[in-house]
Amino acid sequence: MIVDADNPPTNVPSLGNQVPPHDLFETAVEQFGIAADLIGLEDGIRRVLSTCKREVTVHFPVEMDDGSVEVYTGHRVQHNSGPGPTKGGIRFHQNVSISEVKALAMWMTWKCAVVGIPFGGAKGGVEVDPKLLSQGELQNLTRRYTTELQPLIGPNIDIPAPDVNTNPQIMAWMMDTYSMNIGYSVPGVVTGKPLALGGSEGRGEATGRGCVFAIEEACLLHGKPLEGTRAAVQGFGNAGSVAARLLAERGVKIVAVSDSRGGIHNAVGLDLQAVREHKRETGSVVGLARADDITNDDLLIVDCDILVPAALENQINAQNAPNIHAWLIAEAANGPTNPDADVILFDRGVVVIPDILANAGGVTVSYFEWVQALQAFSWTEHDVNERLRQIMRRSFQDVSQTSSRYGVHMRTGALVRAIEHVAEFTSLRGIYP
Ligand code: NAD
Repeated sequence: MIVDADNPPTNVPSLGNQVPPHDLFETAVEQFGIAADLIGLEDGIRRVLSTCKREVTVHFPVEMDDGSVEVYTGHRVQHNSGPGPTKGGIRFHQNVSISEVKALAMWMTWKCAVVGIPFGGAKGGVEVDPKLLSQGELQNLTRRYTTELQPLIGPNIDIPAPDVNTNPQIMAWMMDTYSMNIGYSVPGVVTGKPLALGGSEGRGEATGRGCVFAIEEACLLHGKPLEGTRAAVQGFGNAGSVAARLLAERGVKIVAVSDSRGGIHNAVGLDLQAVREHKRETGSVVGLARADDITNDDLLIVDCDILVPAALENQINAQNAPNIHAWLIAEAANGPTNPDADVILFDRGVVVIPDILANAGGVTVSYFEWVQALQAFSWTEHDVNERLRQIMRRSFQDVSQTSSRYGVHMRTGALVRAIEHVAEFTSLRGIYP
C-alpha cells in the first residue's frame, strides 16, 4: 500500500458536492476568459492559450499479484511549452479524467508564469485507486505508465512531479524506468525525488511552506495579525499537514483538519502532534480524543479566521460560500473554488489567495530541484527556503498590485499577470511555421 494512505477505497463521503461539480476544464477556460477579456487579449493568442497543446491517453496492462491482468487508463496533457519545458504532477486517483488533467495542466502554465519560472504547464494522472494495489502492483503500474509516456517526457521536454497519491518513491520508480529505457541515469526527468536520488532539500514541505509565506503576505497587506488567529485545514496530506504545522509554529490555532474520511474540530486548538500520531495509527484524523468528529462540509464553515482547502477541487461552491467564516482562504489545493463561489466570496469581502499563487511553492522548489539536477550540485535547506520565501513574497506583491490596478480579485489578478507573460512569449516566438 502507498505510504500515508488515507483515501478509503469505498464509502468515501462527498465533500460539499450537493451542487453538481463544475467540469474542471470549463472552469479553467471560464477563468481564463475573464482575465483575457480584461486585458483585451488578441483573438489568435486567445485561441492558442485556451487550448492544450498535447493530450495523450494511454491504456496499458499491469500484471497483478494473483497473475491476472488489469488494463488501466492514464493521461498526460501538456498545455503550453512557450516558456520552457512543461512541468506538472502525476495524480493516481479513481476520479482522474481528461477534463481534470487538462484543467490542471492549464493552471500549471499560469502558476509557473505567476512565480516567474521558465516552465510551461502539464499534468498527468492514472484512473486508479492506489489503495487497492499492493506495493508491487503500484510499482508495476508506475513503471508501465512511465514507459507509455517515455517519448513525451524528459528533462528538456516535460518533467513530472508528485501530486495526489503519488510520492517520492513513485518519482524514484519513474526516474529509474525512464533512465533504464534510455540507458543512463537522468535525475532531471522528474522532481520530488527522494533526497538520496537527487531530490531537493525542502521539496517535501515546499507547497505547504509556500502557502504559509503567501498567508503571511496577505496578513501584512490587510493589516491583520497571524499569531493568535484560528485556521481550518481541509486535507491532511502533503500540502495540508505541512501548512497546518507551519501555521501552528507561527502561533495560529488549528481548530479543524480533515482527510477523505472526515474531519475533527476543537475550538481551542488541536494538538497537531497527536493528530499526526492518530493518523499514523488509524489511517485517518477522524476519532481523535479531545476533538469532535465533523464532516468535510462542516469543516469549510467552522468558525475560524483562515481556511486552507488542501484536498481536491470543487469544494467551495455557491451553496457553502455564503457560510464561510474565514476572512482569508488560501488555496493549497488546485481548483477548490467554483467560479460561482468566487463571485459570492468577493462580494462578501473574503480574500482568496488563488491556487496558482497559494500553492506555487511546490513547483518553485521543483524548479530548484531541476536546476540542481542539471548542475549536479545541491543547495542547503536554508538556501531553498529563503529563495522560496523571496519568490512567494515578490509574486504575492505583483499579483496584489495587478489586482488593485484592474480592480479585480486576486484570482483574476494572478491570471492577468500570467496570461500577459505567456502571451508575450507566444507572440515573440511567433507561430511555426
Ligand atoms: P496528498 O495525497 O498528500 O493529500 C491529499 C489529502 O486530501 C489527504 O489528506 C486526503 O485524505 C485528502 N482527501 C482526499 N480526498 C478527499 C476528500 N474527498 N475529502 C477530503 N479530503 C480528501 O496530496 P497533496 O499533494 O497534499 O495534494 C493536495 C492538493 O494540493 C491537490 O489539489 C494538489 O493538486 C495540490 N497541490 C499539491 C502539490 C504538491 O507538491 N504535493 C503542489 C501544488 C498543489
